Amino acid sequence: MVNKEHESKYNKDYTKFNFQTRAVHVGNNVDKETQVIKRPITMGNSYRLPYDPSVINWSGFDENIYTRNGGSNQKFLEQKIASMEGGKDCIILGSGVAALSGLFFSLLESKDHVIFSNVTYIAVYRLLNELFNKKFNVETTIVDTTDINNIKKEIRENTKLIHIETPGNPIISIADIKKIAKLAHNNNILLSTDNTLASPYNQRPIELGADFSVESLTKYINGHGDSMGGSVSGRKKFLDIMRSQAQVNLGSVISPFNAWLIQRGSVTLPLRMEQHNKNALHVAKFLEDLEPVKFVSYPGLKSNKGYKIAKKQMSPGYGGVLSFSLHCNHDEYNEFVNHLNIITSAVSLGHDESLIVFIGEEDERLHLYPKEFHEGFLRFSVGIEDCEDIINDINQALKKTALI
Ligand SMILES: *Cc1c(COP(=O)(O)O)cnc(C)c1O
Repeated sequence: MVNKEHESKYNKDYTKFNFQTRAVHVGNNVDKETQVIKRPITMGNSYRLPYDPSVINWSGFDENIYTRNGGSNQKFLEQKIASMEGGKDCIILGSGVAALSGLFFSLLESKDHVIFSNVTYIAVYRLLNELFNKKFNVETTIVDTTDINNIKKEIRENTKLIHIETPGNPIISIADIKKIAKLAHNNNILLSTDNTLASPYNQRPIELGADFSVESLTKYINGHGDSMGGSVSGRKKFLDIMRSQAQVNLGSVISPFNAWLIQRGSVTLPLRMEQHNKNALHVAKFLEDLEPVKFVSYPGLKSNKGYKIAKKQMSPGYGGVLSFSLHCNHDEYNEFVNHLNIITSAVSLGHDESLIVFIGEEDERLHLYPKEFHEGFLRFSVGIEDCEDIINDINQALKKTALI
């Protein structure tokens, strides 16, 4: 028997609650069959069909037919991420890159033009600069989106989409979402923003005017480095096209288990981000004063070029990722990283633990970044460990590398 009292408790409209409450409750419910108060993982891939299945659209996404058309754990997570992003709708796919490629694939037609940022996740560069333009005749232009005038100059009759990333991975550059959204809409252009480095706790692009907010859920929203997923939040009109094209027909669906892990991890997003924000600002200030450090790029530093814009659009903090460079050569960078004990050399970011990557002077995209990055740098995703331990770890590795 269904406990009506509990059901009504969980069917509340959560829109009036604050972020932290929504992070705990939205997407969860009492399971109707067992009365367990956490929704279970539904690992089945096929659903029982109605009496007459012949009328079903097999490429549809509104009915439970087959998990590639939409699974229950995916749908529960979509409710939560839409709520966190302040978006009307959300689609969850199998990775951040599936979300990005699915968005581009669903929106763009050949002869459309896209303006995108010089600082983006590597797959965006590959997709737009190498694949979509050569395979599908989509016109693409790369610009430094930290200055809105660079975008203005490149707008064409056929510009359909502007894609920005702020803070931008890996150099942590900042673009003005509100101003770019206004420019885009005045010219009948859509704006998508990759919000992965900020997370919706610190920044919500849709509230600032963007049409789409993209997240790699693999990073802060899951937060524990143990699953992959991606989301696009925005208007249902566009996301339904993605459901049909990217999810059902390209097949970039998320597994129920990964959706469940992300749902669970996302409950503590506000708590983790508080600690990431605090630790990263502290570490950035510490690094800025160190002699062997050439520069630190972190939008929470007053000395940072993007500080003013970041202060306007990011709150309460600036996220956990920074980049910095040392007065040292290629080998010494590797030596320094390999002397670190609690900070791990690994890709990805936004995990509970601190992660660092050395990006060397051979990287093919360095010429797109400002000069100070050309001799190599470190991207550092500051974790939620004790901050003093993180700083001591950096200090001892610098000493062992004979840099201090
Ligand atoms: C990691 C990352 C992605 C890609 O996400 P995956 O889940 O690894 O596919 C996209 N954008 C940014 C900014 C990222 O850091």
